[in-house]
Amino acid sequence: MRTMLKGIAASDGMACGRVYRFVEPDLTIEKRSITNLDYELNRFHQALEAAVSEIETIKTRATKTLGADGAQVFSAHIAMLQDPEVIGAVEAQVTAEHVNAEFALANVAADYEQRLKKLEHNTYMQERVTDLHDVIKRVTAHLLGVKLPNLSLLTEPVVVVTHDLIPSDTVSVDAKYILAFVTDLGGRTSHSSILARSLNIPAVVGTQDATTQLADGATVIVNGTMGNVINNPSQQEQAAAQQKMRERAANMRRLATLRHHTTTSKDGVGVMLAANMGTASDIPNVLKNGAEAVGLMRTEFLYMDSEQLPTEDEQFAIYKQVVQALAPRPVVIRTLDIGGDKPLPYLKQKPEANPFLGARAIRESLAHQNIFRSQLRALLRASAYGNLRIMFPMIATLDEFRQAKAIYDDERSKLTTAEVPLGKIAVGMMVEVPAAAMLADRFAQEVDFMSIGTNDLIGYTMAADRTNQDVAYLYQPYHPAILRLVDRIITAGHAAGIPVAMCGEMAGDPIAVPLLLGMGLDEFSMGAGAILKTRQLIGQLNAKDLQSLVETALNSASTSQEVITMVQAAVPGVLTQN
Ligand code: PEP
Ligand code: MG
Repeated sequence: MRTMLKGIAASDGMACGRVYRFVEPDLTIEKRSITNLDYELNRFHQALEAAVSEIETIKTRATKTLGADGAQVFSAHIAMLQDPEVIGAVEAQVTAEHVNAEFALANVAADYEQRLKKLEHNTYMQERVTDLHDVIKRVTAHLLGVKLPNLSLLTEPVVVVTHDLIPSDTVSVDAKYILAFVTDLGGRTSHSSILARSLNIPAVVGTQDATTQLADGATVIVNGTMGNVINNPSQQEQAAAQQKMRERAANMRRLATLRHHTTTSKDGVGVMLAANMGTASDIPNVLKNGAEAVGLMRTEFLYMDSEQLPTEDEQFAIYKQVVQALAPRPVVIRTLDIGGDKPLPYLKQKPEANPFLGARAIRESLAHQNIFRSQLRALLRASAYGNLRIMFPMIATLDEFRQAKAIYDDERSKLTTAEVPLGKIAVGMMVEVPAAAMLADRFAQEVDFMSIGTNDLIGYTMAADRTNQDVAYLYQPYHPAILRLVDRIITAGHAAGIPVAMCGEMAGDPIAVPLLLGMGLDEFSMGAGAILKTRQLIGQLNAKDLQSLVETALNSASTSQEVITMVQAAVPGVLTQN
């Protein structure tokens, strides 16, 4: 039966294909008594072999995306499955107690885990517990005849339907096998959405129940521009969607020709188009999409993907790799922005009633200076290898900026004394707290650059949690109140002679781009997937004409809808999305 699911339009485009449910299966194990021992032992060995061969495939894919070091963990997984001690213990239990292999495996794994946990001071061994769970789950799935979904094992293009995506689900994914993402949870700024946009994959998020409504293998049409999913579409609908996909692919090929161009409006106003990135594995995508700079590297993932604080040297290696690979492009690396929607379990933060209003970002860095100083040292050391800029997140008061800058200056002078080679570094701030936006003129006297973080600025200005779907309707980038704040920040920066960038999602939004260009924004930083489309759009706009559009939007509009109507009237035909 044809049904339609509604969600949030998270990444543009249409896709038609078969559903791949990326959902944890039921792996409940029951104890059974066994009569045919040979059969059972053979079943166990086959499951082990199947698991090893799957991990080999994942490892090959991961080597491509993460490099040999990043894929190292999979060699450890294979070694665990070939450990004679583990295999022998399972065989012994099956043989002695006449129990099924999955039951014996679970017992042996539990024993092994207990032993690892006893070595509580050995962090390396503690990390092996997570690896153990992973490999045991894989063998158990084979023994139970249950398919364990894994995005790295895809061999044909599918529509991935999942509860929510976390960064580790997607690190070794080959984007060519993903037609679209559909999730139960999330909003436009959740990880799934950001990832989909950076890879240019259509996505609908926050559908609430896609994982229960959509069956594995069912045909669906995902409309990431409208935010809906058609389950079991008619032949006619499928044909229309396929046509749209072909048009989209042709447009992508046209856009690819703009890769090595700079970005200039029709009347010759030049701006910088930059990429947002999260880990070093984003580098190829940043380059492929023709970014002129990186306007935001979020460093949270480096901390979140680890089970303990990354060391200064570990961070240095990654920052160096990023600035070096992207040189001579400027790369803005943001200091740690944890808290809010990005908790760090090993930091043991106190539970808070309002995490978004609590110990987040620069507040945490100033409270835990050892962590902050180690990150700054790693960044300073990496500055010798490229064009690095440092940015502090969530600055609310001048005092916070001054404290952070003083710590930076202190670490810089210590490294200079130690004769460590350092590059020239601009130090700036994110403007994402309304208080900082209101006082932007004062901040502009002290910072080297400002970057507007609209994801939070909109959330805090509209008093709407950016992750709460029930208040998603308040998440209005074109609201005149937001536009006035953005314009105020740009004007304040220019009056002080410093550049103003934007690295929130609004910077790549086709309705917002004409307004931001008219306001004089210097740098637009966005998910890499939006860069070429935005370059094309800016090339069709007359920056001068847009100034009167901005005036009207700022002074005469009262609602977001009025602003949208004004933009569409001012740039007719330009804003068609596919
Ligand atoms: C923002 O708030 O706009 C921003 C870019 O930062 P994040 O999304 O990481 O909070
Ligand atoms: Mg933010």
